[in-house]
Amino acid sequence: MAYQTINPFNNQVLNSYENISDDQLEKVLTDSHALYLKWRDEPSETRRDTLHRIATMMRYEKTQLATTVTQEMGKLIGESEAEVELCADIADYFADHAAEFLARKPLDTVIGDAYYEKQALGVLFMVEPWNFPYYQIMRVFAPNFMIGNPMLLKHASNTPSSAEAFVDIIRRAGAPTASLTNLFVDYDQVDKAIADPRVVSVALTGSERGGASVAKTAGENLKKSTMELGGNDPFIVLSDADMNKVKRVAPVARLSNAGQICAASKRFIVMADKYDEFLTMLKQAFEQVKPGDPMDPATTLAPLSSAKSKTTLQKQVDAAVDAGATVFYGNHPIDLPGQFFQPTILTDITKDNPAYNQELFGPVASVYKVNSEEEAIALANDSSYGLGSAIFTEDTKHADAVAQQIEAGMTFINRAWATLPELPFGGVKNSGYGREMYELGFDAFVNEHLVVNA
Ligand code: NDP
Repeated sequence: MAYQTINPFNNQVLNSYENISDDQLEKVLTDSHALYLKWRDEPSETRRDTLHRIATMMRYEKTQLATTVTQEMGKLIGESEAEVELCADIADYFADHAAEFLARKPLDTVIGDAYYEKQALGVLFMVEPWNFPYYQIMRVFAPNFMIGNPMLLKHASNTPSSAEAFVDIIRRAGAPTASLTNLFVDYDQVDKAIADPRVVSVALTGSERGGASVAKTAGENLKKSTMELGGNDPFIVLSDADMNKVKRVAPVARLSNAGQICAASKRFIVMADKYDEFLTMLKQAFEQVKPGDPMDPATTLAPLSSAKSKTTLQKQVDAAVDAGATVFYGNHPIDLPGQFFQPTILTDITKDNPAYNQELFGPVASVYKVNSEEEAIALANDSSYGLGSAIFTEDTKHADAVAQQIEAGMTFINRAWATLPELPFGGVKNSGYGREMYELGFDAFVNEHLVVNA
């Protein structure tokens, strides 16, 4: 069974879902395209109240929604609740800002009166990962619902119940059935749907491998796409950093969501005069985590999302150690039946070590010692990824100059990372292309229609 909910805390199979047939897929494509044609004749304001209602209902049903996520991919219940609240905020944000984003933009030209107006493009196909099962959907759904692009969703095979819960709540809030259709489909059917003329664009969040495959199909069929892929995000500690701030932020930055966040800090690049203090501090924080039932608010270390995630991470850490990395802390089995991985600190990772340019998607911190700011920047940029980044220094003016030199889609000064509807989210290099959230995310799938009246 391809789509299954297996609780990673106790390995219980909770739900299984059958894939749909090609005939069912054809009907969904027809219905989605029909909704696009209907929405084209309706102003976006007609959808605003529904999107606000979705936000209200999510807040009201937060406990149940959060439980579904925690049982399905294992994250701490408090983190699942925060994810639901963030989704509600995203829905409210795009409901409130759509009219402003869609306002006609007059243009100066010598040939007459001109303007452009953002219009819906048509059916959008989204492929989403399991690490934030609702948030990943919402950051595409909310703007495109307001624009008038009906959506098809292929969610990760290990988070089908979250996908169903999302669709269920938006329908109960009054969204038309075809506004978002969750599909249990295989990769061939994904390619088939993307190639269909009724689908006009594609949004994917996931790995480089998945992104390259889906982007290839989109490219071959000349469909616009956005790709939100992985990261190997640097966290730079300069000599004048406030170590109390670093102490508060660094462990959380690495351990939130059991380390399974694309934009979260992964490579800690520390000036030599702060290196020993940093390592001691990180070790002390990692020693204090309490693995256990993620439904228990007292637990501070959740299991990884699946057996596959744990096996992949263990292989990466083993390969790093074989290639000469030192385990400064961790990498011992945790005596619980679930997919737990002990928080681990790796040092002495040389350029020829596979871990040097790999995303370690779990609670593993790679710590590097550098002797100058230039070296820190060069190391931060010596990566095929370019998603998030962080700089810790008390000289915030100088930090801005450092930020300009980092090859990343996002840089945070004196905090690790953040995702909020009013901030654009996305990366460069192999971390993908395009942005989600804010007006840039809103504009990802619109036709900026120019009209010139000579
Ligand atoms: P995958 O790319 O394997 O899976 C993500 C989604 O893509 C899933 O729905 C998966 O389906 C689907 N998928 C994968 N390959 C194909 C294909 N060839 N055709 C169609 N669909 C496909 O990623 P992981 O499960 O490994 O997810 C974690 C990755 O996602 C990490 O690398 C992480 O950094 C990245 N990520 C990026 C984020 C960002 O915003 N930039 C945010 C969160 C995660 P199925 O499950 O059925 O295989």
